[in-house]
Amino acid sequence: GGETDTSFFGHPKGLAVLFFTEMWERFSYYGMRGLLVIYLTQHFLFSDERSTVMYGAYTALVYVMTIIGGTLADRYLGQRKAVTFGAILLVLGHFGMAFEGAGSREILTYQGAEYQVTLDGRGGDANQLIVSGDASSLISFSEDGGTMRIENPEAVGLPAEIATGDYETRIEQEQLYVNILYLSLALIIAGVGYLKANISTIVGALYGFGDKRRDSGFTIFYMGINLGSFLASLACGYLGIVHGWKYGFGLAGIGMLLGLIVFLVGQPWLKGHAEPPNPEKLKEKVLGIFNVEVMCYLTGIIIIAVSMLLVMNAQLIPEWFVGMLGVATFIFLIGYSIAKLKGDERSRMLAALYFIIAQMPFWALFEQAGSSLNLFTDRLVDRTMFGMPVPAPVFQSLNAGFIFIFAPILAWVWIKLGKYNPSTPVKFAFGVFLAGLGFLALNAGIASSGTGLVAVYFVFLIYWIHTMGELMVSPVGLSAVTKLAPARVVGMAMGSWFLYSGLSNYLAGVIASSTGVETLGGQITNIAAAKETYAMVYTNIAYVSMGLAVVMLLISPIIKKAMRGAD
Ligand code: GLN
Repeated sequence: GGETDTSFFGHPKGLAVLFFTEMWERFSYYGMRGLLVIYLTQHFLFSDERSTVMYGAYTALVYVMTIIGGTLADRYLGQRKAVTFGAILLVLGHFGMAFEGAGSREILTYQGAEYQVTLDGRGGDANQLIVSGDASSLISFSEDGGTMRIENPEAVGLPAEIATGDYETRIEQEQLYVNILYLSLALIIAGVGYLKANISTIVGALYGFGDKRRDSGFTIFYMGINLGSFLASLACGYLGIVHGWKYGFGLAGIGMLLGLIVFLVGQPWLKGHAEPPNPEKLKEKVLGIFNVEVMCYLTGIIIIAVSMLLVMNAQLIPEWFVGMLGVATFIFLIGYSIAKLKGDERSRMLAALYFIIAQMPFWALFEQAGSSLNLFTDRLVDRTMFGMPVPAPVFQSLNAGFIFIFAPILAWVWIKLGKYNPSTPVKFAFGVFLAGLGFLALNAGIASSGTGLVAVYFVFLIYWIHTMGELMVSPVGLSAVTKLAPARVVGMAMGSWFLYSGLSNYLAGVIASSTGVETLGGQITNIAAAKETYAMVYTNIAYVSMGLAVVMLLISPIIKKAMRGAD
């Protein structure tokens, strides 16, 4: 049931609690995520390939595990307890990331002598091969002590014959800290698993079935998400890179601790909307030792263990397996809805499942931002603004910034449109269309760049178009799922929403890997060929998604009808 409290910008006070809890949770998530790949490659000296695959598995798993957290909350824990437990795991995980140790060392053996390779020129004993400044781009190592290639040995002070000579490299790792890293990632995966879907479910629970404020409540909540993300990409990114990794990760941990405190202090304002469905059930003993509540928390340990194994062995997980998992879960969800629900409830739940799947083409394109688009910006865009080169990762904050500006404007437009306000399935079709259109805009930039670098405003343009699309898919979708799923399974439905969001992240990684261009020591060797590769992949995904958008638009009346008045 909803309530009539209007004390937070016309919304219930509980929304303020959820806004700030989720703002800090996303602050920690995006602050840490922004540093992760650079940390893996530069501190632990993992190869690019291993790091990006691990990153892909991690960003997928954080969302995949929400289906377990969501389902446990529906059946036993209630959302309030689940979010609290998730927040505690997250605090542990983010602080765990701050244990960096001394990092890995790369040892090069040449003619019996060992050299430690450092890329930043620190230290200075005789056996240290110091590669600094521009020279670092001339040298590339494989991780396992196999082969090494030095394109211009004289430039880094080595004898010329080393380029073809007999040498070996190996990485010396502090295994303890590598293990702490994996454990921390797994704690974060489990923490998001218990928190993320459930906190969104509580937002929905603040509003009654016909409450007109629901969509705008989610828009406000979504602004909290992006405020956290925006502040973190700047603050954690700066601290981590300039002052040391542990400060960046530590700040993410402090942010999450604040989130936990906000949630604990603010609980009374949730006014019982997130309590266990059956408190007596929680006290029942299972197997005579633990009660149901403790069992729900112990499930977290299983999630942590499984996640740790999966992240460690990310390179071994085959693509077909992930695909099968997605298809099997979807068949289960449809079967469940048909078997357990009837009438309007069933029809609405099937509409919710449509939205859960229809978000996928959007995220698969949008999530190029952190991977292929990030590298594209780094390598092929003239990033000079106001006379100085802007580092590529800084452009990541554009999305959150645009959300902050345009979320309220768009929410206002929807209200102004009144009865012409497009239905949820039409908005989804627009969102997917815009994902494709963004890439066509970038392609126009590539085409007009001649033989040089692409002008920076095309990067602004694609992020802006993608953000407008995101606003038609993401907050709208969260709101729709809470409306469409019956109250007793809304956590599972929300978990499914994020599960497919996670699988789309994975798909985005598969697409990104097909944009691989030839590099030498991290630098592009042939600009024209690289631009052609990107333009080709981006054109293909643009047309596929725009084609899907047309189909989505055509079937939107059917979906609207299936929503049975819940639009
Ligand atoms: N950016 C949003 C968030 O962090 C959406 C994430 C998603 O669904 N993939 O909550």
